Amino acid sequence: MAVNNFDFTVHNYMEDIVLELVAQKQREDPDFDICERCLMDISAIVLNAVEPQYVKVKTKLEELDDAAVANLNRLIEEAAKQVRANPHHDRVENGTYHLENSSEIMVRQVLEEFVENQSEVELEPDMIPLVASMVLNQTKPRYAVTTRGGAYKRLAQLDHQFIPTTISCIYNVIRQIKDLK
Ligand SMILES: [Zn+2]
Repeated sequence: MAVNNFDFTVHNYMEDIVLELVAQKQREDPDFDICERCLMDISAIVLNAVEPQYVKVKTKLEELDDAAVANLNRLIEEAAKQVRANPHHDRVENGTYHLENSSEIMVRQVLEEFVENQSEVELEPDMIPLVASMVLNQTKPRYAVTTRGGAYKRLAQLDHQFIPTTISCIYNVIRQIKDLK
């Protein structure tokens, strides 16, 4: 299997929704006056607390019902309190920070090894991004604000259940896709 089959991108549409809500709050609430770094920390906390949406289901803010939006706004308020009590913006910065879900990197690695080693499972290259997105929808997000490479360092602290859990999830997802065909 050529490595470039794994150069696909996946996207958690929940990121767009949460970032939009945080920006909205910043515009409308004069007390919500915080720096870019703290906004990223708040977004990471909220994104770790809600179900990810890597497969497009409800991917726009206007598609969410009022209860879902209210829940997200409540999570944003709570995360803002947490970040205000313990801000990270005074840390020495080395490079630019960005928001990253390290589960994406981990799922990609497990899936790549799976495709290389499980010769009995037929998986066409164009299905790989869909499989990755469906697996990520069922994988606990691990968002953090990090500099480039930060998430790779955290892979060493990976819990030992992650790989077997992810592999069984990959099998289930492939079965689901084949059943739909
Ligand atoms: Zn700040």
